Amino acid sequence: MPIHYKCRHCETEIGQLPFDSIDEQFLTKHEITPEEQHEYIVNGAEGEYTVQCICEECQNSLQKFPNYYALKKWIQ
Ligand SMILES: [Zn+2]
Repeated sequence: MPIHYKCRHCETEIGQLPFDSIDEQFLTKHEITPEEQHEYIVNGAEGEYTVQCICEECQNSLQKFPNYYALKKWIQ
């Protein structure tokens, strides 16, 4: 089952990774700490994983308007 990458701001699906599970190899490769794992990786109802990251568009907006960074969902 692939791991989905979604933008945490606009919920656009950014991509999928052909990993079967979130294991040590995955975490090391993406430099994710255990704390970040809890914050960013969501375990779905069907056992699928979703990594909440940020898409290019939102990244650009955040760089222009860094004050919005505190708001979790400012694009709807
Ligand atoms: Zn986005």
